[in-house]
Amino acid sequence: MKKIVLVSVGIGLLVWLTVDQRHYLFYQAARLSGGSPPALIDAVDELPSTVWFDDYYTVDEIGTGTFAIGETRYWQQNFNYLVVGEHTALLFDAGPGVRDIRPVVESITDLPVIFLPSHFHYDHVGNGTNFAQRAVVDLPYLRARADGDELAFTKMEHLGPIEGFPIPTWTVDHWWAPDQPIDLGGRSVAVIHTPGHSKESISLFDESNNVILSGDFLYEGMLYVFVPGSSVQDYLTTTQTLLQKYATTDVYYGAHRLTPPGPPRLARQDVAELEQTLLNIKAGELTGSGLYPKTYYVNQNISILADPNFLHDWK
Ligand SMILES: [Zn+2]
Repeated sequence: MKKIVLVSVGIGLLVWLTVDQRHYLFYQAARLSGGSPPALIDAVDELPSTVWFDDYYTVDEIGTGTFAIGETRYWQQNFNYLVVGEHTALLFDAGPGVRDIRPVVESITDLPVIFLPSHFHYDHVGNGTNFAQRAVVDLPYLRARADGDELAFTKMEHLGPIEGFPIPTWTVDHWWAPDQPIDLGGRSVAVIHTPGHSKESISLFDESNNVILSGDFLYEGMLYVFVPGSSVQDYLTTTQTLLQKYATTDVYYGAHRLTPPGPPRLARQDVAELEQTLLNIKAGELTGSGLYPKTYYVNQNISILADPNFLHDWK
């Protein structure tokens, strides 16, 4: 009898640990099965207006003075965005660092460039230390743990070891509060705190083009809501914030592409359908398919990858 109780307690403990540490276990499994960036994929035809900088980077002007810098041969098909003002340029995301992005940026502008990541995952901050100035969203928990302006990313924020990228420590030159207008000269942008994919995730509002650059919060393909720091509740709250506060902004550009050609352009309607999908999941009307993570269908361009319903952290 005693033995049965001990075995039951042991199994219970193991199940609890697996559930409690599921995001960490998934990271470890990805790290053990990866370890280096996969081989580059073949280049495909892009838009007639797309300019190839070299055999890796593409450039598209998506609005006046706003450029999408594509890495369509990297397996995650990243898109980074350069917003050029009269005295300052802002680079929003810089890819995984498979190749140096600075020469592309310098081919577009000779203004001082501030680099701002949409979040700290390795496939967005890889070239971060190549720039003289770095900006980070000013969130109390990040400020509290920074040593002055020295900010070390955690393993679970960066995830770089999955593809063999070292975890950096940054000197932060600018701490930008959410919603604070950033003057680039003749135009301004604003950081929008958009948690859901990760706690520190931000989007960027390009006011002069009325466009939101949405990072990993919204892009074509499968949205990762099962990585450390992600939350379906945060995702829902953020969709509602965007729909209410940016009711007249119809155009979004994400950080990853699903299908060519050109940068991944999305619409306010996608945010509305994402909100509805999350509400359906919350109501228990949508249970997802697959084992783990579950796939929840949003529309033909977007799905959510997340925990099964019983593990969701709704408030
Ligand atoms: Zn990410």
